[in-house]
Amino acid sequence: MNYDYDLLVIGAGSGGVRASRMAAARGKKVAVIESRYLGGTCVNVGCVPKKLFVYASEYASHLKEGAGFGVHATLDQFSWPELRDNKTNEIKRLNGIYDNMLKNAGVEIINGTGSIIDPHTVAVSEQKLTAERILIATGGWPFVPKVPGIEFAITSNDVFYLDEFPQRIVIVGGGYIAVEFAGIFNGLGAETTLTYRGEQILRGFDSKVREFAANEIAKKGVRISTGCDIEKIEKQADGSLICAFTNGETIACDAVMYATGRRPMTDGLGLEALGIAMREDGTIITDDHFKTTVDSIYALGDVIGTPALTPVALAQGMTFVAQQFDGDATPTDYNTIATAVFCQPNIATVGLTEEEAACQFGGDVSVFESEFRPMKHTMSGMSERAYMKLLVQTSTDKILGAHMVGVDAGEIMQGLAVAMKAGATKVILDSTIGIHPTAAEEFVTMR
Ligand code: FAD
Ligand code: NDP
Repeated sequence: MNYDYDLLVIGAGSGGVRASRMAAARGKKVAVIESRYLGGTCVNVGCVPKKLFVYASEYASHLKEGAGFGVHATLDQFSWPELRDNKTNEIKRLNGIYDNMLKNAGVEIINGTGSIIDPHTVAVSEQKLTAERILIATGGWPFVPKVPGIEFAITSNDVFYLDEFPQRIVIVGGGYIAVEFAGIFNGLGAETTLTYRGEQILRGFDSKVREFAANEIAKKGVRISTGCDIEKIEKQADGSLICAFTNGETIACDAVMYATGRRPMTDGLGLEALGIAMREDGTIITDDHFKTTVDSIYALGDVIGTPALTPVALAQGMTFVAQQFDGDATPTDYNTIATAVFCQPNIATVGLTEEEAACQFGGDVSVFESEFRPMKHTMSGMSERAYMKLLVQTSTDKILGAHMVGVDAGEIMQGLAVAMKAGATKVILDSTIGIHPTAAEEFVTMR
């Protein structure tokens, strides 16, 4: 059978771009269909613009910290339009880089929305394209619950392009996006309320880390309200919003941001008609080779319900190409994926939480902890503290988990993830000579 392409990828995000480029590098005929923006969520409305905003949000506190060191500087003004537009220009530059990268690799870029009409054919407007393999890498989309007045709320898709900076914002949710944007808006000077329906933000993280981080975030000025939810949102004549909460409280604000999770982006792809099996939450079911329940159709990235992180989608793209075109059957290894929440201070983690370790290993777990005031803050006068935890299997000495709340935790955790992947034991960490004076050296001096 002659097809137009060896591989037709739907979605030029983290996973789709990586798979297309790697397949093209192996001499395969590849096209990628993209409906919105090259680089997908991460580049356009995710990791990259978010991190740029995080940087912006930390200057005001750096200025304050300077006073203790004799460096007296005041914040003159913050211009939201400059931040927003400089960020947008940087994203456009990255879009251009992605365009060149794909074209130089020999990948054809097709602008439009793809829908699969049979196991080897994808329609894009009037065009019908055939391929030996179709790869779905369409990512996710913000989910918002049905709440009266939800049409007045924004999501992470909108927050990067607001006309005006909200001086008062309510952020709903207790996950990565809610916590990171609470830090961003608070740091940029907005009166920020983070409201979460459960008892403690960041479900899934180590419980001491959650408690410690929530306390540090609140110390920075974010008002954290737990155990309640928004009942309705009303718009006032002056454009401001009133949020009515389930606990009877009302808050007036300029913006309400919902960060209540994401759902797989499968609308209009034609999956039901093809009989592609999906879970209740809409994620596509795949095997170890990313194959869906239809033989020639594959899927990877956020759309398959694995950890929704860019490096995971990238790793899956590499594995997919190695499996399909190099005859390498090795599946993606999801163990010891390090992750960070870019709040102030950062949270970073790899491996098991204390609760998970206890569940898997019972009493065979040793816990090492350290809590301290970072050296910088002995003179900055800030009350910020750092926390680190190592979980070790007592009988084997193997490191099971590492957790940190503190400046640069994301940078520090990557090295520990490598050590854990290499099978590090506590004895190995103990015999490693530290870099002094750093916060990271605590990980090799915990006794
Ligand atoms: P995506 O990157 O979402 O790409 C999917 C692409 O498919 C999109 O470009 C979309 O337009 C396109 N598409 C969808 N349907 C169609 C169709 N029918 N036809 C054609 N094209 C289509 N991860 C991290 O690791 N670190 C972070 O700091 C981080 N920060 C984040 C911050 C935010 C605010 C958000 C929302 C996410 C963040 N993530 C972060 C998660 C990360 O962005 C995703 O895990 C990653 O982008 C998933 O890649 P993907 O290839 O699965 O999908
Ligand atoms: P998360 O799944 O992390 O968090 C969603 C939050 O919304 C949870 O606190 C959840 O509460 C709450 N929630 C869900 N439904 C409702 C509802 N109906 N009403 C009220 N609250 C609700 O999703 P995010 O949107 O924050 O982020 C999506 C994913 O993107 C993340 O999981 C992560 O994988 C990725 N990401 C990664 C980042 C990074 O690496 N730094 C940064 C940003 C995103 P509950 O806990 O009770 O379920």
